[in-house]
Amino acid sequence: MALIVQKFGGTSVANRDRLFNVARIVATTRAEGNDVVVVVSAQGDTTDDLIEKANEITHTPSKREMDMLLSTGEQITIALLAMALDTMGVAAISLTGWQAGFHTSTTHTKARIRDLDTERIENELSKNRVVIVAGFQGINRNEDITTLGRGGSDTSAVAIAAALRADLCQIYTDVDGVYTADPRLVPHARKLDVISFDEMLELASQGAQVLNNRSVELAKKYAVNLEVRSSLANVPGTKVKEVVPMEGMLIKGVAKDADIATVSVFSVPDKPGMSFKLFSLLAQKKINVDIILQSSGRGDCRDIIFLVPLADADAALSTLEEYMPTIGGGQIVVDKDVAKVSVVGAGIQSHSGVAAKLFETLYEENINIRMISTSEIRISVIIAKEDADRAVNAVHDAFIH
Ligand code: ADP
Ligand code: ASP
Ligand code: MG
Repeated sequence: MALIVQKFGGTSVANRDRLFNVARIVATTRAEGNDVVVVVSAQGDTTDDLIEKANEITHTPSKREMDMLLSTGEQITIALLAMALDTMGVAAISLTGWQAGFHTSTTHTKARIRDLDTERIENELSKNRVVIVAGFQGINRNEDITTLGRGGSDTSAVAIAAALRADLCQIYTDVDGVYTADPRLVPHARKLDVISFDEMLELASQGAQVLNNRSVELAKKYAVNLEVRSSLANVPGTKVKEVVPMEGMLIKGVAKDADIATVSVFSVPDKPGMSFKLFSLLAQKKINVDIILQSSGRGDCRDIIFLVPLADADAALSTLEEYMPTIGGGQIVVDKDVAKVSVVGAGIQSHSGVAAKLFETLYEENINIRMISTSEIRISVIIAKEDADRAVNAVHDAFIH
C-alpha cells in the first residue's frame, strides 16, 4: 500500500461533472489499496472572481482581508468533493489549510510555509479516510488566515507529500503534462516524458504556470516523487526528477512571463550604498526584484533598471518616488508593456551559440531586445509585450520543433 498525494487545479474541479470526475480518480486510487491525500484549488475562475469582487469595493484592499476572501474559494471545493466521495461510498473528510496544520509566515497574500504539523492528516488517514485539504492557504502566528500566492495549491500538495514522505505526488491539471512551451500558445509544443527539477524550476520561475515554482523548489529539496498529468485524459504525464538524461535536447522549453514590469531609476548618485538603499526599501515592502542592470554612468550619476512583478509595479513606483528626492535622484519610469521570454535547458551550459541563435531568431522576426539575463541553464530576453507570443513561437520553432 502506498501513500499518494493528488492535487487537482481549478479547471479540474470547475463544476459538478468535473468534481465527480475527480472523485472517480480518487476513488480508483483508494480502491487500489492506497492512502490518499487530496489537495484542491478553487473552482474554475473563482479566485479571479473574488479578486474582482474586492476591486468593486476598493482598489486598495487590506491584504489580510484579501486572504480571508480568497481562502473561501478552496474551502468550497473541499466540502463539495467530500460530499461527492460520500455519495460514492468513499469515506472522506475535508480540512482547511489551518486544520491540516499549515503554519506560515505573516506576509499576507504571499506567505511562505514555515511548518506543517501533519498530526490531524495522519489521524484521519488512520481512520481509513481520504483527506481533502484546501490548497493555497494556512494560518500565521497571529492566527490569521494567509495565502501562499497565485498557483500556491501546487506548493501545498508538494509540502504534504514531503512531510508525509508520500510515495508519489501527482499534480492533475488541464494539460497532459509539461510541454516544451505552453501548448495553448505554441501549436508545435511537445509533451516531455521527463524533466529535471532544475529545468522545471527555471521554466516555472520564468512563467510556465503549469507548476508553481516554489512547489518545484520544495520537491527538489525533499526529493518528492513528482508527476504532472491530466485530470481529463488517462494518459502518462511528465515525471519531474533529479537527474534526467540529455536525450540530445539542447533546449527543454520556452517560457513567457507577461506579468512583469520594468522600473527605470534615472540619475542615481554614483556613490557607495545607493543600490543597497533602493533595494532594501523594495525588500521591506516584500517586492521581489529580478534582472538588475546599472548603466556605466554619466558624470556622477548612473541609471538603474530592473524588473518587478506586474502586481507590485505601482507599489515599487510609489516607494521609490518617496525616496528619490532624499538622495537627489532623478525620474522613475515604469513600463508595464513588457514581457520576458526565456529558453531553458541543461544543454545550454555545455553548448556555445545558444544566445547567438536566440538573438538571430528575434532579429529575423524584427523583435527588439531591451534586456538580457542568463543563468547556467537559461537565457531570458525582455521585449515588448505585443511581440511576446510571436517570439515564443519563433524561438520554439528555431530550437525545438
Ligand atoms: P491548474 O488550475 O491545474 O493549477 P494552471 O492554469 O495553473 O492549472 O496550469 C496549467 C496551464 O499551464 C495549462 O493550461 C497551460 O496553458 C499552462 N502552461 C504554461 N506553460 C506550460 C508548459 N510548458 N507545459 C504545460 N502547460 C503550460
Ligand atoms: N486558487 C489559487 C489561484 O488561483 C491557488 C491555486 O489555484 O493554486 O491562484
Ligand atoms: Mg496552477
